[in-house]
Amino acid sequence: MDCEALRGFQARLLRWFRTHGRDLPWRKTRDPYRILVSEVMLQQTQVDRVRRYYQRFVRQYPTVRDLATAHPARVREAWEGLGYYARARNLHAAAREVARRHGGRFPRRLAEVMALPGVGRYTAGAVMSFAYGEPAPVLDTNVRRLLSRVFVRRRPASPARLDRRLWALAKAAIPHRHVWAFNQALMDFGATVCTARSPKCGICPMREICVNYGRTSGAPTHSAEDES
Ligand code: SF4
Repeated sequence: MDCEALRGFQARLLRWFRTHGRDLPWRKTRDPYRILVSEVMLQQTQVDRVRRYYQRFVRQYPTVRDLATAHPARVREAWEGLGYYARARNLHAAAREVARRHGGRFPRRLAEVMALPGVGRYTAGAVMSFAYGEPAPVLDTNVRRLLSRVFVRRRPASPARLDRRLWALAKAAIPHRHVWAFNQALMDFGATVCTARSPKCGICPMREICVNYGRTSGAPTHSAEDES
């Protein structure tokens, strides 16, 4: 891994984030429960839509204990309109698990967070880095696309190999300081600059280090995922 390129990437990304980072309600908290709520909602729903639902949901269930003791029918009602109700069921089950297994205190270890219902590697990484400042990688669709464009000149033939490489990159790229800002910035940059269908290469601060600069404009190189 090219350490100089990684350092250049970190510096550019953090600089960009200071000016262009999105103001989102779940960024105003370090409460792991609320961060989990936002991440579960964002799994299949656009950011603008999640804003409204998130605020209503955490008003109704401000703590993990409140959600743990809620009636399933009320939780479903609070989720009404967001769709994909399995997410609400899993979130409710996760809150109950926190109450039952951890005495109502949100777990602090990655393995414990990953053991909660409906929580995968990405969501656990988001909770660990956004709530606790732990250097856990976050590799959602947007980050995957951004890292593969900036660092991967030739895609490995095997999707599993690409996956391993991108997780390793997402981990290696995290700076010692500013973990929270860096991981938030990765997601914002992928969602607003290095987009799937029309990456803004012309104004992109990564263009001097991006191995796919000039090869992506107007056409998705790696996939055409939704941006959120
Ligand atoms: S130069 Fe283009 S492809 Fe590379 S990171 Fe920037 S927007 Fe994405």
